[in-house]
Amino acid sequence: MNDVSLHQRHRAVMPDWLATYYEDNPLELVSGSGRHVTGGDGRTYLDFFGGLLATMIGHDIPEITEALRRQAGQLLHSSTLYLIRSQVELAEKIAARAPVDNPRVFFVNSGSEAVETALLLTTTARQSNQVIALRGSYHGRSFGTVATTGIRGWSATSLSPLQVTYAHSGYKYRSPFGHLDDHAFNTACRDELQTMIETSTSGNVACYLAEPIQGAGGFATPPDGFFLAMKEVLDAYNIPFVSDEVQSGWGRTGRSYFGIEHYGVRPQAITFAKGLANGLSIGGVVAENELMNCLTANSISTAGGNPIAMAAGNAVLDFIESHDLQANAADVGHLLSTGLQELATRHPLIADVRGAGLMLGVELVENGTKKPAVAATNTILMQCRERGLLIGKGGLSGNVLRVTPPMTVTIEEAKQALGILDDVLSYLASRAEPQPIH
Ligand code: PMP
Repeated sequence: MNDVSLHQRHRAVMPDWLATYYEDNPLELVSGSGRHVTGGDGRTYLDFFGGLLATMIGHDIPEITEALRRQAGQLLHSSTLYLIRSQVELAEKIAARAPVDNPRVFFVNSGSEAVETALLLTTTARQSNQVIALRGSYHGRSFGTVATTGIRGWSATSLSPLQVTYAHSGYKYRSPFGHLDDHAFNTACRDELQTMIETSTSGNVACYLAEPIQGAGGFATPPDGFFLAMKEVLDAYNIPFVSDEVQSGWGRTGRSYFGIEHYGVRPQAITFAKGLANGLSIGGVVAENELMNCLTANSISTAGGNPIAMAAGNAVLDFIESHDLQANAADVGHLLSTGLQELATRHPLIADVRGAGLMLGVELVENGTKKPAVAATNTILMQCRERGLLIGKGGLSGNVLRVTPPMTVTIEEAKQALGILDDVLSYLASRAEPQPIH
């Protein structure tokens, strides 16, 4: 039995808008090992959500735990007023890997702060408060990032320091251009972007802000060539491209360090957070030299780039490389994606399987329609938990399952998760069947 009093205490002291999964019976996680977590209920679960994609390597990975223990015993904090060796080292690693020309790196503590920094840089460089974001985007909870978030359910306020225009996200399943082949689709979206710039902006736009695969938006994944087509228009207007890789960074997509590389685009800035420190607070921006250095006043983040987060970041990147985890993300991701596609052939609830590597979305609709199957999504989450599997959800209506295990996930664990999902979908189908008439 879950600790009910903890839930009651949570409800009494935390804000009402701080939602938990499993509404009436939320779960407390108390420990973890590899891809498994143990709950306050004493049960062990296979973790295929990784704490909102932040637990990117896994729980209690010895190399990472040891790096943190070592650093904790040396120095917790000094601030960027002093040199921090591990910060310089991590910045060098990121600069060497990011598809950004003449890169400079700045560390903060969260994804929101990272995007906020990119907005500060681009609005200053271009002397414009006009921003193009994408429909279905999520960029954070701070004032500027909420303003660029294109999901109503995550937009707490319409007040904004920015003037934001929302362009097509490349989410084909629910697009008016969705019937077109990929090339024609990309061309239609490119032309729409051009019209949007011509009609809804002054032409002097601070930046185009995009997630290569939309996270909270339900892993909407634009077709190949999409962002290259957008870049053609952006280049014509000299609009910087900011790739928000808070969810898609470091090789989770099984393709490269950053999701945008798959599209052949070199952005002017990349924002990152979450997985880089395997769950500790971290964030940052890697941007072209000229863009990063456009600020004329001082700027500082007191805890940004602190020794503990940097120890984690260095250990995570080293671990990804020494264990070839990008290849693992591609291999296990392929197995999972093929397995989910196969489930889609047998379970009509599944309308669309998308994503890349270990960032997979499963959109659920009511039988034979495109109506979002919201209640079924919640039931599936709960039934998966009952059977020992934690997954996430997202999407504009909350009807997309998010399957995002840590990058160390094994083939065996992926098969186990697919088996549980199959069981749960069959259970739902059996419940939905009309009762026989005697
Ligand atoms: N950008 C993206 C793409 C995200 O997914 C998130 C968090 N879900 C953020 C920014 C904000 O990150 P944080 O919650 O660390 O502020």
